[in-house]
Amino acid sequence: MLLKKLFSLLGRDPLRELEEREMDLLDAGVSFWALEKLREGLADKDLQGALKDILMDGRVSDERIFLLVGTNGSGKTTTAAKMAAYFMERGERVVVAAADTFRAGSIEQLEELSKEVGFKLVKKGYGVDPAAVAYEAVREEGKVIIDTAGRQEVRIDLMEQLKKIKRVAKPDLTLYVTDATQGLSSVEQARGFDREVGIDGFVVTKLDVDERGGVILSLCAELQKPVYFVSWGQGIREFGPFDKESYIKRLLED
Ligand code: GDP
Repeated sequence: MLLKKLFSLLGRDPLRELEEREMDLLDAGVSFWALEKLREGLADKDLQGALKDILMDGRVSDERIFLLVGTNGSGKTTTAAKMAAYFMERGERVVVAAADTFRAGSIEQLEELSKEVGFKLVKKGYGVDPAAVAYEAVREEGKVIIDTAGRQEVRIDLMEQLKKIKRVAKPDLTLYVTDATQGLSSVEQARGFDREVGIDGFVVTKLDVDERGGVILSLCAELQKPVYFVSWGQGIREFGPFDKESYIKRLLED
């Protein structure tokens, strides 16, 4: 209460500030539930503080095996190569598993990226059991990133395939890769993947197209899992760890 009084004395009632921004935040892809949590947080914090409490930034340390899952076209293959480049710049040996044996062109796409970035590619061709590709890759040394085929929640068979990959590869981190432009449908999809396969956090791509990326706040608020990486372009280095502070600045930009 005291804090609220103080804020209003200073002319910065955070609740009022949130109300003024509400439509704008909804427009940016922030869900009603996330707004509600934000409002609760304003009981004893300013807007920035409440946002900081909801947002979670994940940091990779000694995790070795990364499984990338998500719907078609969300940016998994590109993310696999970008993550590889990121780890290689930090002196790691990196292997990428071409376990999307379903989408035509995905293996060639990784072959090209492997030439550009220099990671080792483990591949077995199309139509092969993706779990077999993942199994071979995790026997290699260094960090292992497993690219998988696009999955829709309704495709039970494909979900079963993902579960099998997970059993065989035992990833340290299963990351749901989502495209910021998909808005709130990606929250629903993420929930489905979490229920079926289990995810540890997110990679959010295409923040160059959807610059404010309100979906990040929605994902953190609704699934309470961290965002590890973000991607903001097609270039290999347009990618890096998620940073709360700069995100908040962009989200609240007028
Ligand atoms: P996948 O089906 O999940 O493997 O998706 P891809 O990695 O093939 O990506 C789908 C498309 O999105 C490709 O044309 C990528 O170049 C593009 N893409 C991936 N990440 C980004 C990004 O951060 N920004 C933009 N503008 N395009 C991206």
